Parts: sequence; structure tokens; C-alpha cells
Amino acid sequence: MPTTTKQDYYELLGVGRKASQKEIRQAYRKLARKYHPDLNPGDKSAEEKFKQVQEAYDVLSDAKKRQMYDQFGFDAERRTAVPPEQEPGAHFDFGGFDFGGATGTNFRDLFSQFFRGGARAEVPEEEPGSDLEYGIEIDFWEAVRGTVKKVTISRLESCTTCGGSGAVGSPQTCEVCGGTGHVSQVSGRMRFNVACTRCGGTGRIRALCRVCGGEGRVRRAETIDVRIPAGVQSGSRVRVPGHGNAGTHGAPPSDLYFITNVKPHPFFERRDDDLYSVVPITVSEAALGAKIEVPTLDGRSLLRVPPGTSSGQKLRLREKGVPSVRQPGKRGDLYVELQVVVPKPIDERVRNLLRELARLEPENPRRDLFARAGA
Ligand SMILES: [Zn+2]
Ligand SMILES: [Zn+2]
Repeated sequence: MPTTTKQDYYELLGVGRKASQKEIRQAYRKLARKYHPDLNPGDKSAEEKFKQVQEAYDVLSDAKKRQMYDQFGFDAERRTAVPPEQEPGAHFDFGGFDFGGATGTNFRDLFSQFFRGGARAEVPEEEPGSDLEYGIEIDFWEAVRGTVKKVTISRLESCTTCGGSGAVGSPQTCEVCGGTGHVSQVSGRMRFNVACTRCGGTGRIRALCRVCGGEGRVRRAETIDVRIPAGVQSGSRVRVPGHGNAGTHGAPPSDLYFITNVKPHPFFERRDDDLYSVVPITVSEAALGAKIEVPTLDGRSLLRVPPGTSSGQKLRLREKGVPSVRQPGKRGDLYVELQVVVPKPIDERVRNLLRELARLEPENPRRDLFARAGA
């Protein structure tokens, strides 16, 4: 075996030295899929890379091995070795042992032989799918009345070829460890006892699904009907259960969420479930009172303007607001702000009437203005 310079395990997986187990697992999965011999037939360099990645993962995914590796580097491997049964009086010396050269087998060679061919452990780790979140823009009326929107999303779906398991065929006894789940290797006077990496220590393996690369899921575009309930606001979360990413190895899928962005309306201003609008009235309607028609969500409604209404006064139409998402059957209110439109005195008769009105004006609205201002 030619001696090659070893690449740092962390570097190999492209993770930091403080990487969590999850990060290490994710990095490993990604690389293992990329370099898997089944997906790179005849590519020697991919195969070599695959072995190295497996080896790095084997060490870094095991807390004990990782700690040794962090402390001693590749040198740690010789320290994890266990000596063979010793004859009484036999002396064992760590320091004097030589792993290199013609007689020794180095750690990498030892592991390398376990990674040929595509296979996976019978009991792979399951991870539930992650939630998916998409923004969705809807107009005022869609938000108020509710709607159904067709949306195309991209999500990880369970692989139909392997049923999400990532493996195909029936489980076979692992030919590397003979079904025991571990292998021992004697090298010189030392014997290694390590978990079989081919089968993940389970002793049984199944063939890797080529469609999903063993992950049990594949990315697909999906068009779905999203039911937007009446009353949603900007920033509401609409949940579509079970339409998030599928989990790995058949783990359950997560949920899909749509965050609504409701476009404003030119006439109705919305605050929570209440609506606000501004409606102009004439001077005589304001002074004498009137019944006027105003727009509401349900069409025209009759509004009674009381006599002596000032500009800016707000009238409330109960239960004419937006349906509540949280409390079905309830609705907000509609507030109508009345705006008195004063006529331009272009007509001589109007001018005379206004002069008459000025003479009859019962009181000066600014009577106590200066007193109140203290000026
Ligand atoms: Zn095995
Ligand atoms: Zn598959």
C-alpha cells in the first residue's frame, strides 16, 4: 500500500472542529451521496473519496473516537487499539509500535476495505421532514371572503421506488462482518475491534436505492390548492398539514405554511378585523340629519346621520367588518368617518342662505378658545 498524506477528517467533511453531530451527519450524507460508487460507476477517485468520507464519519460520529482524534490526530488510532490476549508476563509497549511500512496495516487501509459497493444498514436513522414556508400574495377581497389558490411549490417527497426507506430488496447478512456487526483486525501484536461500517453495526444490509441515493426522498415540484380562510391578515400563517418536506427513510413529513401578504384596498382600511372608511356628506345632511347609503363588504347599507353631525365624526356599523379567523361566526365592525363637504359659494342664492345662516348661528364655536389656550 502506498503511503498517502491524510487529509484532516474535519476538512474532509467540510465542517468546523466544533461541528455538532447533526452537522457532521448532514455533511457526511451529502458527500456520501455525491461520491457513492453506485452513482459514479468506474470512477476510482470518487470511490477513494467515498472511502475517506466514510472513515472520517466513522471517527467523528463516535464521541469517543472523535475525542481521541481531537487529542492525538491520526495517531489516536493506535491508542484505541486493544492488545490481543497476552501470555503471562508478555510486555506490551504502545510507543514502540510501528504501523507503517511493509508489515503494518494503517487505519485507513483497515477501514477502506469495508466500503465497496452500494449498500446500506438495515436500520437507518430517521429524521422527520423540515417545515416548509412560502409567501403568498392575496388581494383584499380574497382575504375577506376566503379563496382557494393554486400554488406550485418544490418539496422533498418520499421516494416511491424504495417506499421512502432508501433501500431496496430484502435484508442480507453483511458479508463484511458475517452478521455480527463488528470486525476485528489483527495487526502485528494488536487487535482492533471496531463496529462494522458497512452495515452500521447492525449485521444486515440492503441494497441502496439508486433513485434517491439512499435518502428515501426526492425533490419534486407540486401544485397544490391552498385554501385561504376568510379573514386572514398580512402575516397570517396558513397551514397545509403533511405537505412539508418528507422525512428521511420514511419518517413522517412536516407541514407546509403560507405566510399571507394582503394587498391594501383603496377605500376600506383594515385594522385587525375592523374596517375604516371615509364618506362625504353635505352641509345640510350634517346639520339636519339624513339617511345615506354607504358601501360595506355586503353591498350597500343604510346609515343614519344624526342631526348636527360634525366633520370627522365616526359612526359604527356593528358586525360589518371582516370575519374573524380565530372566532368563527364573529365579525369586526365598520367605522364610517363622515366628512362634511362645504359648498363653494358661487351661486348668489347659496351665498344669501349662508349669510342668513350666519345671522342665526346660535353660538360662536370659538367662544372659549382663548380661555382654553390660556393665551
Ligand atoms: Zn457488517
Ligand atoms: Zn429511493
